[in-house]
Amino acid sequence: MFKKGTKLYSIANGKCPKCHEGVFFANSFTFNPSKVTKIHSHCSKCNLKYMLEPSFFYGAMYVNYGITVAISITVFVITKLGLHLNLLESFLSVLAALLILAPVNLRLARIIWINMFVSFDKNASLTKNV
Ligand SMILES: [Zn+2]
Repeated sequence: MFKKGTKLYSIANGKCPKCHEGVFFANSFTFNPSKVTKIHSHCSKCNLKYMLEPSFFYGAMYVNYGITVAISITVFVITKLGLHLNLLESFLSVLAALLILAPVNLRLARIIWINMFVSFDKNASLTKNV
């Protein structure tokens, strides 16, 4: 869908932001809260250390906040203006959508966050042992 070498490729496929080959998340998609955001310590292909600095992924909460607002507004507009639900029903729909999409949101926030700091390097996987 997205070409390799773009940040969207890394984000959509959950790949290492540097080489776009190594897998970023330690587990496949799950609703288990202790496993959903678990990431590998290093990229298996280019050896990039994913935790760039201590507590690096605390910054992902800002991205998470943005995604949360976007989901909330989208669901509210659809349920209020599209489905003509009342205010309480729309609010409960937003809550339900946020709960259901929480694992997606958490994972997206982390991989978007690291992609803001690490760029694609097409030689990354070749220079692993140099
Ligand atoms: Zn890599």
